Amino acid sequence: MSKSKPKRIRIHAFTRKYATEGDYRAYLAKTRWPEGFICPKCGSQRHCKLSNGLYQCNECHHQTSVTAGTFMHRSRLPLKTRFLSLYFVTQDKRGISATQLALMIGVNYKTAWLMLKRIRAAMGNRDAMHMLGGVVEFDDCYIVGPTVGKERGRGTEKAKVFVALSLKDGRPEYLKLGVTENIRKESVKSFAEKSIQHGSTIKSDACRSYIPALTGYDHQYEKFDPKAESLQRSTCGNISLRKAEFPRMIRFSV
Ligand SMILES: [Zn+2]
Repeated sequence: MSKSKPKRIRIHAFTRKYATEGDYRAYLAKTRWPEGFICPKCGSQRHCKLSNGLYQCNECHHQTSVTAGTFMHRSRLPLKTRFLSLYFVTQDKRGISATQLALMIGVNYKTAWLMLKRIRAAMGNRDAMHMLGGVVEFDDCYIVGPTVGKERGRGTEKAKVFVALSLKDGRPEYLKLGVTENIRKESVKSFAEKSIQHGSTIKSDACRSYIPALTGYDHQYEKFDPKAESLQRSTCGNISLRKAEFPRMIRFSV
């Protein structure tokens, strides 16, 4: 899947472009109904706008708003504040905290926490729908949790995880992870079908369960040699070695 590079937009440009509540409403309406209003219930385009900002269908009288079904729905915050929340969350790759967000948008901690929760849920839904494509490196590994102390017995906590990394021009682009009970054929197939478009090229090592599980793909595999001098030459080199070149987005499909 070829995707254009996300545009970074500066805060001044953002607030200049969208200055009033009306600007945000117009933007949402245009995004939601690019060809004009369509009733979500009956599909009619005939409608009127009510004084409270709702759209009412002339056929079935269903009322809806530009924010219905989005993370912005049923919030008392001005649309500008809701958009700014989204802006700050999406522009900070490291992950913004509710305390930081509260300071940035001028609300209390609880309001910021709720907004953050909604935005993260929306981003999670979007990520779950995203399918990797093109050239994808595939592997499995363990992710080990922090050791809390021997008495609690959490020192050995680890999760087995499938890792799929799509490449663009040979460089990491998107990553999907999925916790799994095992690496049997059925588990590999299930993860691949949820995460990788059919017809993609999958590069992996020659794990016995991968080969029959990935028949719907152009599966290129080679025997992994841990003694090889350069791991980068192995098919899972990107996953294991390019930690510094982290993909733009980490996608969890747990
Ligand atoms: Zn209708």
